[in-house]
Amino acid sequence: MRNRTKISLLALKIPQISIVAPLYNETESFPHLVERLNKLMDSQPLAIEVVLIDDGSRDNTPLLMRQLALLDPRYHCVFLSRNYGHQLALSAGLAAARGTEALFIIDGDLQDPPELLPEFYKKYQEGFDVVYAVRRKRKESAIKRLGYYLFYRTLKAISYVEIPLDSGDFSLISRRVADVMNQMPEESRFLRGMRSWVGFKQTGYEYERSERVAGESKYSFKQLFGLAYNGIFNFSEFPIQFMGRAGITAISVALIYLVITLAKRLFFGTVIEGFTALLFVIVLFSGVQLLALGIIGEYVLRIFFQSKGRPLFIVKEKIVECQITNNK
Ligand code: UDP
Ligand code: MG
Repeated sequence: MRNRTKISLLALKIPQISIVAPLYNETESFPHLVERLNKLMDSQPLAIEVVLIDDGSRDNTPLLMRQLALLDPRYHCVFLSRNYGHQLALSAGLAAARGTEALFIIDGDLQDPPELLPEFYKKYQEGFDVVYAVRRKRKESAIKRLGYYLFYRTLKAISYVEIPLDSGDFSLISRRVADVMNQMPEESRFLRGMRSWVGFKQTGYEYERSERVAGESKYSFKQLFGLAYNGIFNFSEFPIQFMGRAGITAISVALIYLVITLAKRLFFGTVIEGFTALLFVIVLFSGVQLLALGIIGEYVLRIFFQSKGRPLFIVKEKIVECQITNNK
């Protein structure tokens, strides 16, 4: 069991728990989010701060966040200089969060019910460093569900880290796990993979994923593919090893073919015809070579971006305990 430091921390106003939620054009869901979070905080004896990250929204989200954070010191708002995408916005939130015990990561559209915090926190008190949510059911389109289903299973099959099936970013992580993740400098971030990589004691918590409370999904298909790519290329050696294996297979096939051809020539004297077969083999192996180049290209690209060493995101403004800090 972990020590309960609640009372002294409350007196000092240092949050024990940070609830972290990235927001991108979430004007419609914002009032619902705040209402549910306020209710949750009012019902909890824990010292909680809410870290909201504006991921370069183009609607009223930053305005609403500002109004709220200037009135209510429990809300800690971070405004990014542009849209960086969900994973980087979340990384900005993890870096800003001050919770001394744990960070509770949710989506801003209430698909991850914040009311589960006490349950997750109970697991943390039992000694788990990571409590990740496992989706029992998804209320999304059939194509998206199939995509997710295949992606998680493929990743599990080829990854060198044990990444649990059907678990996204919705989770509670301890302060020390957050510290490690904040120190990881990787540029193409796949946070659920990084969280698994950190290790310590981890456990799943099954829940039913709700529908978006309002508005449309802010994840484009391109972004979803990007995320899947990051999972596969950053947490698996399979693609690059696959190329070598494809090469060995091609050489073996060619050798066998050579032996068969020679045998036919020597023992039966038949001449092999087959322009079509030749064409097929050429096209097939040109394809394999291009695929191989593409895979190498993907790794080179990743090295290229990482080697630039740019900051992951830029914070434009922060509001902490009703105080505005500008990045001048
Ligand atoms: N989000 C973000 N930046 C983006 C896209 C999304 O911060 O570029 C936020 C979004 O506001 C939401 C969360 O990430 O709080 C999850 O996004 P969304 O609900 O659109 O994704 P889905 O649940 O459809 O996969
Ligand atoms: Mg959503």
